Amino acid sequence: MTTNSAEGIRWDLSDLYAAHDDPRIDLTIKDCHARAERFADRFRALMQDRETLTAECLLQGLRELEIIFESLGRVGTYAGLLYAADTAKPEYQDLTQRVEQRSTEVRNLLLFFELEWLKLDDTIASRLMADPTLEAYRHYLKSLRRHRPHTLTELEEKVINDRDNTGRNAFGRLFSEITSSLTFSFEKQGEKADLNLSQILSLLHEPDRGLRQSAMETLYNGLSQHGQVLTFIYDTLIQDQLTMDRLRSYPDPMAQRHLFNEIDGAAVKTMMAVVEENYGLAHDYFRLKAKLLTLPRLALYDQYAPVGKEVKPFPYHQARQVILAAFDAFDPKFRQIAAEFFDKNWIDAEIRKGKRGGAFCASPSPQLHPYILCNYDDNLRDVMTVAHELGHGLHGCLSRKQNYFNYDTPLTTAETASVFGEMLVFDYLLEHQTDREVQIALLAGKIEDIFATVFRQNVLTRFEEKAFAARTEKRLTPDALGTLWLEANGKYYGDAVEMPDGYRWGWSYIPHFIHSRFYCYSYVFGQLLVLALYRMYKDEGKSCVPKYLALLEAGGSDSPEALLRPLGVNIHKPKFWQKGFEEIRALTAKLQALI
Ligand SMILES: [Zn+2]
Repeated sequence: MTTNSAEGIRWDLSDLYAAHDDPRIDLTIKDCHARAERFADRFRALMQDRETLTAECLLQGLRELEIIFESLGRVGTYAGLLYAADTAKPEYQDLTQRVEQRSTEVRNLLLFFELEWLKLDDTIASRLMADPTLEAYRHYLKSLRRHRPHTLTELEEKVINDRDNTGRNAFGRLFSEITSSLTFSFEKQGEKADLNLSQILSLLHEPDRGLRQSAMETLYNGLSQHGQVLTFIYDTLIQDQLTMDRLRSYPDPMAQRHLFNEIDGAAVKTMMAVVEENYGLAHDYFRLKAKLLTLPRLALYDQYAPVGKEVKPFPYHQARQVILAAFDAFDPKFRQIAAEFFDKNWIDAEIRKGKRGGAFCASPSPQLHPYILCNYDDNLRDVMTVAHELGHGLHGCLSRKQNYFNYDTPLTTAETASVFGEMLVFDYLLEHQTDREVQIALLAGKIEDIFATVFRQNVLTRFEEKAFAARTEKRLTPDALGTLWLEANGKYYGDAVEMPDGYRWGWSYIPHFIHSRFYCYSYVFGQLLVLALYRMYKDEGKSCVPKYLALLEAGGSDSPEALLRPLGVNIHKPKFWQKGFEEIRALTAKLQALI
């Protein structure tokens, strides 16, 4: 066993509770339950009577709800964090399950409040929302109302929920079971092994070209053997969604996602078109990469081949120093907040058995500070992960001045601070790097990360659109889906990258298509938004820092479009989205200059 520099870096959860058997945990839940019962007794009747439903009454209801949700959040966060830090401990498993179950009971008692709010007719609801008393809650109340035209009766909703378990959710589980049990028998250096999906995918990052090529062939060959079932699942789910869209009166397959993202579909359309106009940038990069690898032309399996030289091991204390310095250069307040995470032990970075993999930042509510979990393994990727999660952490801290309902942001802007944090640290590292080969590796890595979120996710979304459109005509076959997939990808790769025919199965293992349709464009949105903001920061300098801080402080108190307006962002203008590509072009030019 090698020793790891993050050993002993564990979070301190004692602000929340003392231990998993702290009696205050049960007391909190009991109190929430009692409060919820009193709340239902009092407000169910008040909400139904047009005479008693005043702005003042609604305000009291919302404040009481906040208190209950805050308390539930504290218990839920504590249980969730304990479990994430040690998933194998039965006491923690029991606690999470118990808390989940009891919280659901409490939430069910409170559900009527939203439903009654949706039932009100528009004139009454508008009058209430216009009342200055409710100003702090206006955005929340308004957001709920947007779902009104698509909500069915309580009984219908209940039947759908119950039937979904054996309907669309069952197909989703079947997909997860198939993809998680996939095994690929693969020969590496004369040794045969059975690899799972993520193991075979990671071979595409290997330096040996022959190895990458046979890994890719093995991958698609393996997927094709499950092709009939994977096609059937996807086809059924699309059909199910088309039916639900009709019943819920959504005008098009993306409309529901736009509503949850608080985004106007027209802006998404503009954004996606601009991304497509810039596919040429990707072609240029792929040709550059071919040159770096001394190949006449890139094949698909060369896309993630490593170039340049890896950065030396990166101990945790150095990551801390680099991140704080990079944040400080942007604004001392950033450094100050990030330093708190390190100094007050809000981060669990150590790698240990039983701890959850990956990384996350939990920002429970305005009354609590965020917590970060990561598995720090002394490499550059992990430095970026800590920077990313600290970006979320900064956002979570700065928006604590908002109330509970205005605290969280929708998906479209949820990754702004995190990706921005990564950009700051990336630039700092590049600037302080003297080894040319390391600079090449840093730049290529960044560009490829950006491509994977901007271009590839755009391709994925286009494919989904085409698949939904095709399903309105007839049942989808493996052949039809494969062709749609190759067409959507062909535009991105152009003649700069050779696609093997097996790639027609490339769509078949992507979980977003199955579990959350049209999710992928949010990645494009988030990344381009940050690149554009970052570009503005470079062009305008320090003058835009206060505006950026204000954006983070605003949390989810308004729609992304309204919150971004003071920064001069107009998401309906192609020119705004193009700014992001200027930043990508600058990165590619830097790389070109090094070669
Ligand atoms: Zn994130």
